[in-house]
Amino acid sequence: MTDGSPLAVAMEEEESTAMAMEVEESPSPSIAPRDPPKIQRLEESVVNRIAAGEVIQRPVSAVKELVENSLDADSTSISVTVKDGGLKLIQVSDDGHGIRREDLPILCERHTTSKLSKYEDLFSLSSMGFRGEALASMTYVAHVTVTTITKGQIHGHRVSYRDGVMEHEPKACAAVKGTQIMVENLFYNMIARRKTLQNSADDYGKIVDLLSRMAIHHNNVSFSCRKHGAVKADVHSVVSSSRLDSIRSVYGVSVAKSLIKVEVSSGESSGCAFDMEGFVSNSNYVAKKTILVLFINDRLVECSALKRAVEIVYAATLPKASKPFVYMSINLPREHVDINIHPTKKEVSLLNQEIMIDMIQSEVELKLRNTNDTRTFQEQKVEYIQSTLKSSKSDTPVSPLPSGQKTPKVPVHKMVRTDSSDPAGRLHAFLQPKPHNLPDTVSSLSAVRSSIRQRRNPKETADLSSVQELLSGIDSCYHPGLLETVRNCTYVGMADDVFALVQYQTHLYLANVVNLSKELMYQQTLRRFAHFNAIQLSDPAPLSELILLALQEEDLDPENNEKDHLKERIAEMNTELLMEKVEMLEEYFSVFIDSDGNLSRLPVILDQYTPDMDRVPEFLLCLGNDVEWEDEKACFQGVSAAIGNFYAMHPPLLPNPSGDGVRFYTKTNEKSSQENPALGGNVEMESVLDQDLLSDAETAWAQREWSIQHVLFPSMRLFLKPPASMASNGTFVKVASLEKLYKIFERC
Ligand code: ADP
Ligand code: MG
Repeated sequence: MTDGSPLAVAMEEEESTAMAMEVEESPSPSIAPRDPPKIQRLEESVVNRIAAGEVIQRPVSAVKELVENSLDADSTSISVTVKDGGLKLIQVSDDGHGIRREDLPILCERHTTSKLSKYEDLFSLSSMGFRGEALASMTYVAHVTVTTITKGQIHGHRVSYRDGVMEHEPKACAAVKGTQIMVENLFYNMIARRKTLQNSADDYGKIVDLLSRMAIHHNNVSFSCRKHGAVKADVHSVVSSSRLDSIRSVYGVSVAKSLIKVEVSSGESSGCAFDMEGFVSNSNYVAKKTILVLFINDRLVECSALKRAVEIVYAATLPKASKPFVYMSINLPREHVDINIHPTKKEVSLLNQEIMIDMIQSEVELKLRNTNDTRTFQEQKVEYIQSTLKSSKSDTPVSPLPSGQKTPKVPVHKMVRTDSSDPAGRLHAFLQPKPHNLPDTVSSLSAVRSSIRQRRNPKETADLSSVQELLSGIDSCYHPGLLETVRNCTYVGMADDVFALVQYQTHLYLANVVNLSKELMYQQTLRRFAHFNAIQLSDPAPLSELILLALQEEDLDPENNEKDHLKERIAEMNTELLMEKVEMLEEYFSVFIDSDGNLSRLPVILDQYTPDMDRVPEFLLCLGNDVEWEDEKACFQGVSAAIGNFYAMHPPLLPNPSGDGVRFYTKTNEKSSQENPALGGNVEMESVLDQDLLSDAETAWAQREWSIQHVLFPSMRLFLKPPASMASNGTFVKVASLEKLYKIFERC
């Protein structure tokens, strides 16, 4: 469900009233009233320490403050040294403008800053700091020593601080250009904090991560980060003019070469002015965790809504979803960012955040689809060669698989699901969506496409009266009220696996997405009749085996081998029947079966949408069994209905893993019984989560939900003529209407 949707708001309100009522009605506690405790003023040093602990939460937060100060001081080189995860020592050296001798006495007092002098300055601020709190805070929870020199001085000064004040007068010392700040024994006076940090994983990794992020954005500054005493730096970036170079030097060649440039410039008209530029990973990049490096007005921040939005695009677009690498720099008018953000509050809130995220999401999706379509074709072709070698006589040499691709263990023609809990049969790998307007680099595909063009004969086919009759049937018996609703409704979210919640004017409906998508696909099949673009399957799949599979899936008693022979016979007959119809299926429906009986091409019914390939077997069986081939009109209707049913947005075959559904993904393993021979026949079982299957399921469900929101509903608004039957067959169910709710409230 989208945040901020009408429903989410309504539910939140309901919850808060319920809570308010609970508070009012709860009986007063039965313990005897006691005297109010005396309020005391805390000692100032305690107050400061508490406040400091909030600003500097862990070593990495101190490093961030120090590095930001160095950036504010116009440094071009910043190096960080860390000992004991930052608890023993953090040292940041820069070559910036330094600190004046006369400022040193108040440098570490709270609210001393050189970046802001009056309130109005807040609105023209371009520096990272302005509160003058960071250095002060550090002196309350650590020992801080500053060495600095300003331009034109012959020597520098060194001074140590504790609890906001200098421990002694600044001492003259030799110094190189800039400032060096040493923070020692962090949290020495906060025992509990120190203990938890010592027990938790070392902050060094976090510090390296922070500097890596900083380094790719501030590519006019060179960064280094090393452990104390180490020769080799763990982050080492050089000044570079290109962002991609800096990403390469920090995150490595393999990341840099799998990136696509993304850019959005909103313009004034959209009501939110912002510019975004960045890089996102393409389908060659493989990772388990998302990396989102986000800078807003040059400030490193986090934004979980944006992160989720981008992850959804990847889950929905890439065949085997990898988590993305994303670098984005967003610039927007200063008044659109809440300036009053707490220095450690990394999560930002922005004006018009939703519109911004939407625009960025669309851009990422567009770029990803464009590159993905050309890339994966090659990869999957390789997979095919590899996997069919065993069964074919082909002497094509085996090309090495691209890195990150697993070698399939089963021949592809056998990789079909027979059991819904077995992921081996997922058929997504078979298919290649290929919109017609993309630059084409794969020659075999262009051959396919040009042959399609040649074969098309719009004039002749569009005149087929049977198709015209079917179309005018759709146009004449739609339900005007439902048409209104479909055209103007707002998608709220999925209520369960089948029903979506939609809002139309003051009404809330449950809409059956399976029925709706089935009808839409059916209608579109007829409308695009003989004018389809093609989805090319990179691996032609053998008809007879697919049909046999469908028959086996239908069978309630799979153990019964006697019927196997019968099933094989039925599969054979169906294959023969379809082989007789190949020309017609290809010409009118772009369902292409080659002369060896392999299915190799399917029609594009809605752009940007490919059907669930797990349903291919069922589709072929349905073509064989349910179509009335002898009568032209009935035949076209039957094939369109079969396609409609195949392309409909059914719930994925893998059960929904959210919430309770996760139990479907636990498997029981036998604990090895040899260890305990005394147990005899009693084998111990343990349950473990099947991560691969679970992630397959999560991807399938995320893809479907994305398609429902971004493909089904927008297409329905444009194309669907809802038949009158939908008003009464449960496709649309009104669940609430505001007027009625008001009446109920009035009575209360
Ligand atoms: P803020 O950055 O919010 O001003 P800080 O406590 O982080 O507050 O720093 C206080 C002041 O110390 C800064 O305003 C700046 O003038 C000075 N300062 C801190 N670090 C450096 C540095 N590395 N180089 C030059 N000046 C610095
Ligand atoms: Mg600062």
